Amino acid sequence: MTSRSINQDLIRPKIAILGAGLMGRMLAVSLMEDYQVELFDRDCGDAKQSAAYLAAAMLAPLAESADCSKEIMQLGARALQQWPDFLSKLTEPVFFQKKGSLVLAFEQDLGDLELFKSRLKGDEYELINSLEIKEIEPGVNARFNAGLLLPNEGQLDNRGLLLALSKTLKDSGVVWHKQAQVTRVTPAGESPMYHCEGHEFSQFDWIFDCRGLGAKEDAMSDNQVNKPLAQLRGVRGEVIRLHAPNVTLSRPVRLMHPRYPIYIAPKEAGVFVVGATQIESEDSRKPTVKSALELLSACFSVHRGFAEAEILAIESGCRPAYWDNEPKIKVSGNIVSVNGLFRHGYLLAPVMVEQCLHLLKGTEKSSVVTKIMPLLMVKDG
Ligand SMILES: Cc1cc2nc3c(=O)[nH]c(=O)nc-3n(C[C@H](O)[C@H](O)[C@H](O)COP(=O)(O)OP(=O)(O)OC[C@H]3O[C@@H](n4cnc5c(N)ncnc54)[C@H](O)[C@@H]3O)c2cc1C
Repeated sequence: MTSRSINQDLIRPKIAILGAGLMGRMLAVSLMEDYQVELFDRDCGDAKQSAAYLAAAMLAPLAESADCSKEIMQLGARALQQWPDFLSKLTEPVFFQKKGSLVLAFEQDLGDLELFKSRLKGDEYELINSLEIKEIEPGVNARFNAGLLLPNEGQLDNRGLLLALSKTLKDSGVVWHKQAQVTRVTPAGESPMYHCEGHEFSQFDWIFDCRGLGAKEDAMSDNQVNKPLAQLRGVRGEVIRLHAPNVTLSRPVRLMHPRYPIYIAPKEAGVFVVGATQIESEDSRKPTVKSALELLSACFSVHRGFAEAEILAIESGCRPAYWDNEPKIKVSGNIVSVNGLFRHGYLLAPVMVEQCLHLLKGTEKSSVVTKIMPLLMVKDG
């Protein structure tokens, strides 16, 4: 980043971003040229306390539409177009692919595949037979007789992205307060304030609260401003990372199964992310034996090559969600909360950033994002 003069910095509005998980980092990179950005996170910069660190980072608007609104699907499709441009601005390359998703079911579970198909809110898919499955994914279990190919879906490497964002911010000289637990966000006259490690500051023009589920703790205090955040809940997910250099899957595979639907997302260098359970609980314990058995046996049933895979990690965490499982940008004066990304953080992040940029320019009412999903942004008063 070019060094700026003190005068240039004086005229750039100041923005605090609370939470340096997925949204916080993406926003910081998008704002750092035109604003003086300071990031705050309770972790040491490794993102290990974020949902973003665990995610499979599938960019699957159509597959997800089986269980979400048409608007989320449309925003996800828009975001998928924006990802390559966003990634090109980072100082490090990030694994990104758009080879589609494959949805499979064994003969006895074809009813689940049919049900899944009937719930899709778009028609960009192809029904494929066993020969076609073998052609595009030769390594999968030969017992699959039918599947759905969703050719327009993508995925990226979540941990590679988090690192590349961090490196880009560091190279650009963005101030990043680490191990900075933000305990309350309160409005104070014209200038917003936040409380961090017992200190109060009021020198920011805008505060973007991107603390994910961490914002819920604030909402549980007596702080009226953040009462709406009290509707946040965590949805537990367990995920397994495997190293399986002999397994040849070239795109994310979803297995329809009545008890444990799973996905397997192949990343670079023989790494696979297998996930994820979806449990209505904020239980923060490590993954259970039951979940590990379900994920591993389902993935072994898709590809026998997983028998010799090395288990790199079995992890759990919570997705930040509102009760309708839809994201919200809540604006209260100069405090903007971006939250509730549920299982769609990577799917939607570029359009969430796009809408925040509109808000700062005052053009949010006429944005394409508003046209697609009018209720995404909620303003006080
Ligand atoms: C198992 C699993 C699989 C997933 N798979 C996918 C997928 O395939 N595709 C997809 O699109 N999405 C997926 N997601 C969802 C995605 O990860 C989330 O939607 C996304 O990470 C939310 O981003 P966020 O920035 O709002 O929150 P987070 O990524 O959780 O970041 C919040 C940050 O705030 C910080 N913080 C919290 N409280 C405080 C505080 N008081 N003070 C300072 N800092 C604080 C945390 O340390 C963290 O760094 C998955 C999630 C999980 C758990």
